[in-house]
Amino acid sequence: NAKASGNRYMFYQASMNESVAVRLTLENQLRLALENDEFVLHYQPKVSLATGQMTGAEALIRWNRPQVGLVPPGQFIPVLEETGLIHHVGRWALQQAIADYLRWKRAGLPVQPIAVNVSSLQLRSPGFIAEIQQLVGIDPAAASGLQLEITESMVMQDIRQGISTLQAIREMGVTVALDDFGTGFSSLSYLSKLPLNMLKIDRSFINDMSDTPEGMSLVSSMITLAHTLKLKVVAEGVETEEQARFLRLLRCDEMQGYLYSKPVPGDVFESRFLAQPVG
Ligand code: C2E
Ligand code: CA
Ligand code: CA
Ligand code: CA
Repeated sequence: NAKASGNRYMFYQASMNESVAVRLTLENQLRLALENDEFVLHYQPKVSLATGQMTGAEALIRWNRPQVGLVPPGQFIPVLEETGLIHHVGRWALQQAIADYLRWKRAGLPVQPIAVNVSSLQLRSPGFIAEIQQLVGIDPAAASGLQLEITESMVMQDIRQGISTLQAIREMGVTVALDDFGTGFSSLSYLSKLPLNMLKIDRSFINDMSDTPEGMSLVSSMITLAHTLKLKVVAEGVETEEQARFLRLLRCDEMQGYLYSKPVPGDVFESRFLAQPVG
């Protein structure tokens, strides 16, 4: 039945062309988005579990797409990576986070380091060290105000290069956090060789923590491991008081999540978390 398979072929071809067209439009719109300044950073605070004080914030990108509204990064970062646009947008995010940090610092506000997510393509690009150098070179205070968030898989692809890139970055005074900890496959010996300042326990473990004793001991082990390696440890995606209480008992250093705050635009972050209460 040649006719049926012929139709099927036509069908596949039509839908493939369509998805290519959609992809091309999206790619062009993302290109324009950069020119038209449509990307924004939202900031989500991290807080100390012991004191309740803010310890820093993570910058999370959004695309303020005309006629659509705020688009979350999961919907466009993959396209940016496939097209190489991630280098430009990633650079913009670093630049914007540093500019915001310095502006708040110069205004005398009690701003803490800001963490910026870095794509593996950025980390592995030959010019990355120089790029960071240039970005933090604009002000002596900039380097200590910047943290990079990387994932295990990024460094795993080329461990030796990954380690030396991170080392160079840390020598500038920029700190490094390992994001989504627990979701990768790094061995412990390798983890101990990475020049890190902080581990961020992936949200999925925090989510499962209260359900079973195993979930709890897994998180406990991760916290112990971080402390053995002399690293600070942050729990991601903390949504309930119960999770916060457990994490405090387990001696986790910091938490980040909806319980304390969702990511908010820079001006909201400033007025809500940085501005001194008057009087
Ligand atoms: P991530 O780095 O693991 O960021 C944490 C994600 O969890 C964020 O999603 C944040 O909004 C969300 N989150 C925070 N607290 C909670 C909570 O209590 N509950 C729940 N359910 N979610 C919470 P978002 O903003 O959609 O970002 C998704 C991912 O996009 C990020 O995951 C990161 O991998 C990537 N991303 C964000 N900004 C950038 C960027 O500037 N550059 C690059 N390369 N990637 C970025
Ligand atoms: Ca992150
Ligand atoms: Ca994460
Ligand atoms: Ca994640």
